[in-house]
Amino acid sequence: MSDTEIRLFFFLGCLGVLVILELFMPYNRATTKTRPFKRWLNHFSLSIISVLLTKLLLPVGLVGAAIYFQSNGLGLFNLLNLTGWFAAIAGVIVLDFVIYWQHRLFHTSPLLWRLHRLHHIDPNVDVTTAVRFHPVEIVISLGIKVVVVFTLGIPPESVVLFEIVLSSLALFNHSNIQMPDKIERIVRFFLITPSVHRIHHSVIHEESQKNFGFSVPYWDQLFGTYATSSRQAKDQFQMGVEDTVNTNENLLTLLKDALRS
Ligand SMILES: [Zn+2]
Repeated sequence: MSDTEIRLFFFLGCLGVLVILELFMPYNRATTKTRPFKRWLNHFSLSIISVLLTKLLLPVGLVGAAIYFQSNGLGLFNLLNLTGWFAAIAGVIVLDFVIYWQHRLFHTSPLLWRLHRLHHIDPNVDVTTAVRFHPVEIVISLGIKVVVVFTLGIPPESVVLFEIVLSSLALFNHSNIQMPDKIERIVRFFLITPSVHRIHHSVIHEESQKNFGFSVPYWDQLFGTYATSSRQAKDQFQMGVEDTVNTNENLLTLLKDALRS
């Protein structure tokens, strides 16, 4: 199995399980009922455009780049002779740390926010929102990751592991599921749960400046951006961006949202 096949296997597996859970234990029943197919088509189209664009720009992929850097002894890890499981785990942690700060940057930079806004103007967040990103944001994110993998010499194993873990957990924390409270409170110690990440999608601006992590809650806790409660009532929780009306029209409208002032 190639790394692409392994990643696709995990992605489709998690997607399938979470779609079923959304049917049986939805957080917002209206979201699962409001003919999601058009949204889903838009979201997967965005994802396919992003994959094609990144394949065009970096045909070997991030893993291929990591293999090249490693075989040429490039990067800090290789210079320090860091190898094996220690290097692989350290690489995953570094990449996750970078993604946390990248996410914050996409919120604080007005120019980058225009791209990231597409992810946030979705008022009906569900598992497919995890792939709802502007293709240009995906390209910039790839560029950042290439620089990090190159300068630190992060091993290819870390890249594969990180991509699988991040995409699986992003699907999980965007899913429209309501976990039983007792279980949720335990899982919350280790992972960003759907109810925690939902606060990041709150229509209230200050709340959208919380919970930037996509995997573990520790970066948010360390840098003071962690929140587990919202000012909004749980049964009337509104997601999206203030002053944005309907946003799930067609693919072109979504792509052109970055040009809106
Ligand atoms: Zn965000």
